[in-house]
Amino acid sequence: METDKLFLIVEDDKQIRSFIRFSLRTQNYRAVEAANGKEALASIVADRPDILILDLGLPDMDGLAIIKNVRAFSDMPIIVVSARDQDREKVEALDAGADDYLSKPFSINGLLARIRVILRHCKSAAENPAPQRIYRIGELEVDLEKHRVTLNGREIHFTPMEFSILSLMVKNSGKVLTHSYILKEVWGTYLESDAQSLRVFMANIRRKLENDPARPRYIFTEVGIGYRFANE
Ligand code: CA
Repeated sequence: METDKLFLIVEDDKQIRSFIRFSLRTQNYRAVEAANGKEALASIVADRPDILILDLGLPDMDGLAIIKNVRAFSDMPIIVVSARDQDREKVEALDAGADDYLSKPFSINGLLARIRVILRHCKSAAENPAPQRIYRIGELEVDLEKHRVTLNGREIHFTPMEFSILSLMVKNSGKVLTHSYILKEVWGTYLESDAQSLRVFMANIRRKLENDPARPRYIFTEVGIGYRFANE
C-alpha cells in the first residue's frame, strides 16, 4: 500500500473535502487540506505535498491559476475535480498542466482509480529502469531512468503523465501506435473521455518538442489511427 505520498486536497466545499479525505484514508493515503487558493499555495510550500487534488472553483482564486503557478516550479501530479462538466474546462485544465480531470459528482472508486493511474506513472518513472535507458532521436535525448528529456542539450520538463506517453512513443519509435493501444498502456482500463485527454497531452508534448507543430519533426499523426514517433 502506498503510504509514503502526501496528498493536498484543495476544495472549498467542506463536505466534498471530507469525502475526498475519507476516500484517501480507505487506502491509508496521507492528506492535508486547503479550503482556498491562498491556503493551497501556502501548504504547497510548507507541507511539500506529492500529489494535488484540486477543485477549479475556489472562492479566492481560479484553480487554473494554481495549476499554472505550480507548473512553474514543479512536475507534481495534479488531479482536477470540477463541477464544471464541460469539455472546454477540461481541455483548459489539462492544457495548463493538470494530469487528470474528474467531474463532480464522482465516486470513491472513480477517484481511487484515477489516483492509481497517476501513482503508477510516478512509480514507473522512479522504480522501473528500462533495459535501454537512453534514447536519442535527432536532437532529442530521453533518459528513461533519470526521467530526463533534453532537446538540443536543453532540459525540458515533463509531468509524469506526459513522460509516460513520451516514453511509450520513443520505445516504439518508427511504429504506428493506435489511440486505443496508447490509452490502454497509459491509463490501463480507460474511459471514453481519456481519448480527449490523450489529444491534449499529445498537443502539450508537441508544444515542448516541436519547433513547428504544423510540420512535425518527432510526432506524426496517423489520421484516424494514432501516432508515430520519428525513428531518426
Ligand atoms: Ca468549489
